[in-house]
Amino acid sequence: MSDERVIVSGIQPSGTLHLGNYFGAIRQHIDLHKQHRSFYFIVNYHALTTVHDAEALRRYSLDVALDYLALGFDPSASSLFLQSDVPQVTELAWILFTLTPVSQLEKGVAFKDKVAQGLSANAGLYNYPVLQAADILIYGGTVVPVGADQKQNIEITRNLAARFNQTFAPDDPVFPIPEPMILDEVAVFPGIDGRKMSKSYDNTIAIFDEGKQLKKKVMAIVTDSTPLEAPKDPEADNVFALIKLFATPEQKQDIADAYRAGGYGYGHAKKELLKMISDRFESCRERRRELAARPDDVMDVLRQGAAEANRAANHFMERVRESTGLLRALPRS
Ligand code: ADP
Repeated sequence: MSDERVIVSGIQPSGTLHLGNYFGAIRQHIDLHKQHRSFYFIVNYHALTTVHDAEALRRYSLDVALDYLALGFDPSASSLFLQSDVPQVTELAWILFTLTPVSQLEKGVAFKDKVAQGLSANAGLYNYPVLQAADILIYGGTVVPVGADQKQNIEITRNLAARFNQTFAPDDPVFPIPEPMILDEVAVFPGIDGRKMSKSYDNTIAIFDEGKQLKKKVMAIVTDSTPLEAPKDPEADNVFALIKLFATPEQKQDIADAYRAGGYGYGHAKKELLKMISDRFESCRERRRELAARPDDVMDVLRQGAAEANRAANHFMERVRESTGLLRALPRS
């Protein structure tokens, strides 16, 4: 490993991973996991705030593992595991709750957004950032690669780490104060309906959509009604916003020129995009099919990741219990 940084990041299995997740987070995760000691975990406790269907939660969780492995995650380089295989995080979350001002959670932008979208305002959703803090701190995380939408939550984590250290271990701090690594500061990629692509809006193109389903979704991307022969502004179009993710600089320039020249319709752009998506993920799709046929191997990867994660978590929890005064009469398992 090149330095002492510990990278941690959770992936929520609340639906099928989509192109927004890929370009906004996963691609960077895959790049980072080989360079630094990293813990990537599938946050199924978090997903429970919105998914109350056991079969769906199991499927989404395993799909995330398959997606990451198919997209190039190398389990010999870093750990990939299920959050529920480290249940100590819920214990740490409880301890952190006792240090969390309610006023801070009341300002939670993500909570307000989700409730505004119609999700039920349950206490899990409200307290989501504290479990996230526990997830980061329990592995001694120092760097958290996240989208700009997560900045506020990382600030809560930083506050909690500092407050824990001040309150319980002023002379020998337990937790490093983690730094966010903001990925793609400005880019928010549109979904089929032109709003932010999000599992919550049912407007996504999944990374592993293919065939008819992929075609149907690409063809359904909302465009304006400028006629085929008229010049078009590529920067105002949802199809072009997605093309930009896949295209080489030259391709991007050529297609933008074609938009501006007129005689190039949105249908042409959609065909181009469809081909780009298919080509980009073709080899990963094949790899995913192979992995899906070997579920035991995928479980082995998650088991090995969980064993490493438990070692790191137990180290920190030992110190947490010691410094908070939580007695335990039972021997440690
Ligand atoms: P969703 O909105 O689909 O539930 P998440 O909130 O789980 O997605 O997203 C996890 C990460 O994926 C975000 O922090 C961000 O980095 C990235 N991401 C998700 N949607 C988009 C998008 N439309 N554009 C850019 N990045 C995105």
